[in-house]
Amino acid sequence: MAGILDGIRNRFGGGSQPNNVVFIVFDSCRWDAYKDARTPNLDRIAVAEPRFSYASWTSPSHYTYLMGMVPHTSPKGVFASNVYRDEFCQWSRRLNIPAVEFGAFIPQLSLPAFLKAQGYYCEGQVSLPVLNPETSMSANFDTYKLAPSHNDLQAIFDRLEFKSDRPNFFFINTGETHYPYLLPGETAEDLPHLSGVHGVFKSLDEFLKNPGEFLEDRKEDEFFTPQQFRAFYDKQVVCAEHLDAVVGRFLERCPKNTYFLIMSDHGELFGEEGYFGHGPIFHEKVFEVFFLEGMRP
Ligand SMILES: [Zn+2]
Repeated sequence: MAGILDGIRNRFGGGSQPNNVVFIVFDSCRWDAYKDARTPNLDRIAVAEPRFSYASWTSPSHYTYLMGMVPHTSPKGVFASNVYRDEFCQWSRRLNIPAVEFGAFIPQLSLPAFLKAQGYYCEGQVSLPVLNPETSMSANFDTYKLAPSHNDLQAIFDRLEFKSDRPNFFFINTGETHYPYLLPGETAEDLPHLSGVHGVFKSLDEFLKNPGEFLEDRKEDEFFTPQQFRAFYDKQVVCAEHLDAVVGRFLERCPKNTYFLIMSDHGELFGEEGYFGHGPIFHEKVFEVFFLEGMRP
């Protein structure tokens, strides 16, 4: 390990160190909700921009992130292959390691495999059960675990330890912004009463196990009202603001040479054209996500 790190430092003339990388996904946080949230801490890293996810739901979207890709800008008049190539080249700047090229990612096309080859410690902590350690998502990580709670980024940060003998890569997925938009410790009983909503919140477990079937079982006249959708949207904004505060506290204890990439994995629909949620939905708002990246301020 020391040999790899020495090699990296030598390429910089001995002084520079590779950056730690903290990659955080706010699950389901749609662009508009993020934009409406007050995010003073995240703004210190970078002001977020709207981008597009490669997928409309959690698993395929995270898979592309673990290939080393991030939400795209949808440029016109270019070849997709050039966009991918340029995207992989960004890792040189992010890691503070010179001359990272697309070739360094093949044949695995795996961000953790690539980072391990650069001497990184790679740890994943995920909140959504669909990303659990038995899935292929965990491939090439040194450590990969399901978070203790569906919606508690603070609890994930409390378990993170930066290794001092090598650069660190932390890949985190958190669910506060995922349906039903609960803050840590909150239950359905804590939410403002809305006719028809409580029963849905109480069925969270069933929903998480099989969202499609769960929603299918709802009768058409039980679909949410515009007021309920508005309440969902407002609650997602509150959850984004909560996550901003949690990241703000985490920044204080991060090593200075830590690079952040923070984004959502897909958007969420709150009644537009009769849609709710994400997944088997083709709609611009489900692909529109927020994205920001930058050094620890
Ligand atoms: Zn998701």
